[in-house]
Amino acid sequence: MKIFNTKQEIKAFLTSIKEENKSIGFVPTMGALHEGHLSLIKKAIKKNDITVVSIFVNPTQFNNQEDLIKYPKTFDNDKKLLESVSCDVLFFPSVKEIYNDNISSEKFDFDGLEHQMEGKFRDGHFNGVGTIVKALFEIVEPNKAYFGQKDFQQLQIVKKMVKKHRLNVKIKGCPIFRENDGLAMSSRNTRLSKDYRAAAPFIYKILKKARKKFGTENAINVTEWVEKQFKKHPILDLEYFTIAEEKSLETIKIKKSNKKYRAFIAVFAGDIRLIDNIRLKNH
Ligand code: AMP
Repeated sequence: MKIFNTKQEIKAFLTSIKEENKSIGFVPTMGALHEGHLSLIKKAIKKNDITVVSIFVNPTQFNNQEDLIKYPKTFDNDKKLLESVSCDVLFFPSVKEIYNDNISSEKFDFDGLEHQMEGKFRDGHFNGVGTIVKALFEIVEPNKAYFGQKDFQQLQIVKKMVKKHRLNVKIKGCPIFRENDGLAMSSRNTRLSKDYRAAAPFIYKILKKARKKFGTENAINVTEWVEKQFKKHPILDLEYFTIAEEKSLETIKIKKSNKKYRAFIAVFAGDIRLIDNIRLKNH
């Protein structure tokens, strides 16, 4: 696996790849890699001639400084995992390499997607995401880029950015990878204490029950039911639960048969914030 730390070096290498008419698949990550990341990387490897993974803990998308400082960093293990799946290229730049001395975000208009869910609770988060994804796309110029449905709002926002800025890259959404007990894999899971880790699978259990209830009940009733379950929970704190339409991400009031819906959730396990979502059947 080739490892590059500078834009100049990776661009020079990828230019030679493009001259050979080879396709480039790209998976941006913040490191602390797990099987969820690897599922995206394996897909990219299968579908492209060359796969590039980036590891960059992007400061501008963190609204909480403590979360940024405590974000897990496991470079040696990440490198081993990437080599174990035969990843071709790792891009591992410094903050200075990406931002120079100006660590700030561009302002984006994502047609309102940025004001829903995570946007309400993480001020400036999606401007940070847009800034880094656009910058990385300009460096790597991939044919295809792979994003997890774990961060479904992010996936929709990246698709919107590509469309609005007419970027020449196909965005591929990939399913959520879970632990055996149902907890969505996340780099932040390693920071959970034993008690919170044991409690966290409750989130997916509730999502599955909500999906079942949505078959017979309206969205408001399902939402109230979920809120009640978390009020009763001894240690997990619900930040939000909402049922939204997949494209607009707007919370729904009335089900329509031609729309796709998803339930989205954010939960605090102590000071660790966990998110998850589930596709709902449209009855
Ligand atoms: P992150 O390193 O958390 O920024 O994630 C990098 C990419 O991996 C994003 O597109 C995430 O949505 C995706 N990802 C993270 N966790 C999972 C998971 N459990 N299943 C599928 N994709 C994931």
